[in-house]
Amino acid sequence: MKFSDLGEFGFINRIARRYPIQPPYILKGIGDDAAVISFSDDLVILLTADQLIEGFHFRIDETEGKKLGAKALAVNLSDIAAMGGYPIGYTVSLGIPSQRVALDFLDAFYEGITSFGKMMEVALIGGDTSESGERFFISLALLGKASKGKVIYRGGGKDGDLLYVTGWLGDAALGLKISEQGGSRAGKENLLARHFSPLPRVKEGQALAERGIPNAMIDISDGLLADLNHIVEQSGVGAEVDLSGVPRSPEFQTWAQEYVSDPRALALGGGEDYELLFSVSPEKSIQVAQLSQELAIPLTCIGRLAREIKGIWLKDEQGRSKKAEPRGYDHFKTG
Ligand code: ADP
Ligand code: MG
Repeated sequence: MKFSDLGEFGFINRIARRYPIQPPYILKGIGDDAAVISFSDDLVILLTADQLIEGFHFRIDETEGKKLGAKALAVNLSDIAAMGGYPIGYTVSLGIPSQRVALDFLDAFYEGITSFGKMMEVALIGGDTSESGERFFISLALLGKASKGKVIYRGGGKDGDLLYVTGWLGDAALGLKISEQGGSRAGKENLLARHFSPLPRVKEGQALAERGIPNAMIDISDGLLADLNHIVEQSGVGAEVDLSGVPRSPEFQTWAQEYVSDPRALALGGGEDYELLFSVSPEKSIQVAQLSQELAIPLTCIGRLAREIKGIWLKDEQGRSKKAEPRGYDHFKTG
């Protein structure tokens, strides 16, 4: 059997099944956006790791070092946001093809990561450096904290919950298409920025968790359907997504047709938006609306969770439902 037959999620599940035993202070090991470790009576430590690999996540000749640094931190911050946590510090491990990568690029990378870190109030606390021959790679570990009773897990979704997302979906995937296809960039700067300079929803995740609003939460890194599938599987419920409710930005609506034949598929399956997807009990929808006003960001209801639903179903404008393939971005799987 090859690795690609299992795919990323299949592989992770296999590891989690094989090594299930954890000491009691590990509140969550493999399987959520970050590990949760009991620290004191009222605090937990959060730990997440994410990497960016040249040729898969970025191309060095098309990427500014500064933006790459900020993005490497952003994708990790997004996982702390998804737990409702507060970031503390991060390590940066680099594999550097030393004959090819310029010192200027690395300086710009550190300038980018540390200035973004300053903005997000998180400190560089270490790392590791090695020659890596062919490919440049960047691997971060990010430490965070949260109040013990306030952490939000993927598996907390309940029968009857409403599903919400922050912001807009599909922008980052469209930004990537625009950058790949070249041509005029006028008016598309925001979409390109959503791909190259994502802004994780850290304060939104914190505000949601502080007020105890979500039952389940995850960040959308692999695409709405793939990430919703994690909530569905771990919560033991199904989901129905109202297609007309999936929020698309004005720029997305203006440009998507020009780049893809099926813009809706991009909004449902495109990765790297780093928005938050969360489920709430219906009686809390008023609190969600209030928070949306306070944070000046759309928090849009896109569907619901229900025990009687099996898997994920998509409902179109005419009210017809069809079963969805939860196919998001998985590096190892094709098709
Ligand atoms: P995210 O998309 O939020 O970064 P991932 O899908 O990368 O989450 O990871 C899901 C879970 O699997 C996390 O708990 C992560 O720590 C764990 N995980 C991922 N890769 C490995 C691995 N190679 N070995 C052990 N655990 C892993
Ligand atoms: Mg995540």
